[in-house]
Amino acid sequence: MSDAHYPLGKNLQNTFFEAFKDQGDLHYSVVAPSPLNNPVLVSSNVLLATELGLNSEHMTDSAMINLMAGDLSGTKLQPIAAVYSGHQFGVWAGQLGDGRAMTLGELAVDDIKTGKSQLWDIQLKGAGATPYSRFADGRAVLRSSIREYLCSEAMHGLGVATTRALCLVNSETPVYREDVESAATVCRVARSHIRFGSFEHFHYRNQPEAVKALADYVIARHFPEWAENNQKYVKLITHAVTETAKMIAQWQAVGFAHGVMNTDNMSILGDTIDYGPFGFLDAYNPDFICNHSDANGRYSFKNQPSVGRWNLNALATSFMSLLPSEALVTALKDYEPTFLQHYRHLMATKLGLKEYTENDESLINNLLRLLEENKVDYSLFFRQLCYFSNDNRALRDMFVGREAFDGWAELYMQRLNQQPLSDEGRLTAMLQTNPKYILRNYMAQAAIEKAEQGDYSEVHLLLEVLQNPFKEHTQAGHYAGLPPDWAETISVSCSS
Ligand code: AMP
Ligand code: MG
Repeated sequence: MSDAHYPLGKNLQNTFFEAFKDQGDLHYSVVAPSPLNNPVLVSSNVLLATELGLNSEHMTDSAMINLMAGDLSGTKLQPIAAVYSGHQFGVWAGQLGDGRAMTLGELAVDDIKTGKSQLWDIQLKGAGATPYSRFADGRAVLRSSIREYLCSEAMHGLGVATTRALCLVNSETPVYREDVESAATVCRVARSHIRFGSFEHFHYRNQPEAVKALADYVIARHFPEWAENNQKYVKLITHAVTETAKMIAQWQAVGFAHGVMNTDNMSILGDTIDYGPFGFLDAYNPDFICNHSDANGRYSFKNQPSVGRWNLNALATSFMSLLPSEALVTALKDYEPTFLQHYRHLMATKLGLKEYTENDESLINNLLRLLEENKVDYSLFFRQLCYFSNDNRALRDMFVGREAFDGWAELYMQRLNQQPLSDEGRLTAMLQTNPKYILRNYMAQAAIEKAEQGDYSEVHLLLEVLQNPFKEHTQAGHYAGLPPDWAETISVSCSS
């Protein structure tokens, strides 16, 4: 057997395992994967591999593919599945946990920017049942794995805080959903897999010492500089509040709807995690619901900022044994101003404004109202706006109500004239913030349909394009326009 999986097979540590190994199954269970049959590499993410100190030869070696399909032979890895609980659709759901995910270990990578070493969790999703699988099979179907793989990299490409995906493996192992499908694995790479629901789990079990131990673990791993600070738990909750606010501001600015903002799907570090029935806006619609199972629209696009606040409230509740309630209330107060500040800044940047000023609020809101009334495609509009001028017909023609748009455009022109920035300077800046490509559902669907026939070329194309969504990609021009009519028939729900 080749050594090629050794960068992952041999070099992983497991600080999470070490921190709690004397506590029985309190925080996690040690698990053994059930390897997939005849695994085939669908795609590997060479960009991320390189960041992790791996290369494309490592990623295509059969030993590595087997490892990524859950075959641990030749390694000493001891994977763990973490336990957590959570509020699902606003209701306490009790214990959940890694039902189809297991963390192989943590890879230490030197961060070129900070010079510090950072640990990345290396996790397999879909490698078999765990004690937290309940009645499910611990598997992930190819289609949902393609969606997670592509979307996490698309979000990273857009500059949104997110977990990453290292590779995607398909197999001949059958999975039984409505039809028989093939089982796949995604290797998810994240700074942390600890969720709001990880803290809630111990709070609701009345185990305050376990809440404290988990908070101390997060601080030791991510914020060692706080370890001796008597405000360390205030710092931790405040960090969760501000990073979640910034993440959701990014979602709103790029037009991303997560779809299942349950507290078990919220990362303590504020990274986007658990890509299921997500969706990007086509025509601007604040009431957009991407999750077919979300009949009441709890997680609709416009509700995301307030759900973020609701989820943080649930997290703060689980910190009640660590901090007095006044401190928690104070920490939560940072949410709205942080969200607004970041959202306004991001929207101003999308508009090519160097700075957000108070009057820009009505400029932004009036624009969003026009986009909604005229059912204008959100991302296409902003990309076209980069080329704004008095006689940009393509932009004006996006609106049924042309005069209303003219009125807005007049005010926008006046606003642009107030800032010392040339049209070329504005164009360059705007092209780097308004993507040409987003992962619309129909694009993922096209990649899925081909992949289910054994043709992975569309996955490869989309990965390349979405990792660099601000660039022109001549081979993918057809993905830069409006979605086709059939896109409306795609329905995505939680089941995957
Ligand atoms: P999600 O909707 O993906 O966030 O999953 C909610 C919970 O259900 C988590 O605890 C998952 O681990 C678990 N889960 C989802 N799908 C499966 C599956 N196929 N097998 C086992 N557990 C699953
Ligand atoms: Mg989840």
